[in-house]
Amino acid sequence: MSIEVKNLLKEYGEQKAVNNISFEVKQGEIVGFLGPNGAGKSTTMKIITGYLAQTGGEAYVCGINVAEQPLEAKKKIGYLPELNALYYDMYVKEYLGFVAEVHGLPNKKEAIAKAIETVGLALEAKKKIGQLSKGYKQRVGLAAALIHNPEVLILDEPTSGLDPNQIVEIREVIKKQGLNKTVLFSSHILQEVEAMCERVIIINKGNIVADDTINHLLKNKYQSELRLEIKEVVDASIFEDIQNCTAINSHIWLFRTDNPEALKRRLLEISLAKNLNIISLQTGNTSSLEDVFRNLTKSE
Ligand code: ADP
Ligand code: MG
Repeated sequence: MSIEVKNLLKEYGEQKAVNNISFEVKQGEIVGFLGPNGAGKSTTMKIITGYLAQTGGEAYVCGINVAEQPLEAKKKIGYLPELNALYYDMYVKEYLGFVAEVHGLPNKKEAIAKAIETVGLALEAKKKIGQLSKGYKQRVGLAAALIHNPEVLILDEPTSGLDPNQIVEIREVIKKQGLNKTVLFSSHILQEVEAMCERVIIINKGNIVADDTINHLLKNKYQSELRLEIKEVVDASIFEDIQNCTAINSHIWLFRTDNPEALKRRLLEISLAKNLNIISLQTGNTSSLEDVFRNLTKSE
């Protein structure tokens, strides 16, 4: 297992910022860590990366207990913190050289060149960090996280604050990394998680409220939708035995259901009985990840 978190607890006074959570990430997975602000994402990530001590429970990276062997664990981890502090006065290469030095890399020059190439920084590599756009600053952060070729990448809101083009570019870099590394990245943007990974862990108020593939979350837990278009104008009363029925206009009706096949049969029966001409009858999965997310994280 690349990442293993067991009954992890972090208390700030009375508050349980992380409340006894457990999850695993297998080698080679890209997993989205999703949750609203204040949910406990950064806290969890700081503990996994050894930058914060937990109140209880354990975190392992590549089988190494992070609290017990922080230096060994850190060799396996590339970490991009949420508010990544960079030295704006340093040149890109100079900064990466400094990071390579900290890691005690034997072949610094090669490692720097490789990191620069991986994150697409070549054209900006001679500039001072302070001169770079936000997207390129983030690439510097990523390059620094990658420079020691870690097995596991922990990225805390890697695209936050970037413009749409920069977001797409950073996502591409991360996706590429996911081909041969384990990646856990946090986000509060649902589309992002949908675009980048198959599996998502959703955290809310320190508790894990979902840990599943996106497909599974969308399919099983929530309803699908049937859209019926008919030629005739009919009264809602003809669908009276069906719940969750909404008229979109005089010809189009929407039905929400957990059992689309049964509902389809029922609608066909009604149409036959009432002599209705069906123009179309379509199934759709209405619940976007956004619905799922809102349902799981809404405040009581
Ligand atoms: P997220 O990254 O999901 O937005 P955080 O992990 O940063 O959430 O924070 C989780 C909760 O813990 C929040 O309610 C936050 O206010 C609280 N918290 C985080 N750091 C501290 C701290 N150093 N002292 C007190 N409370 C904190
Ligand atoms: Mg955070």
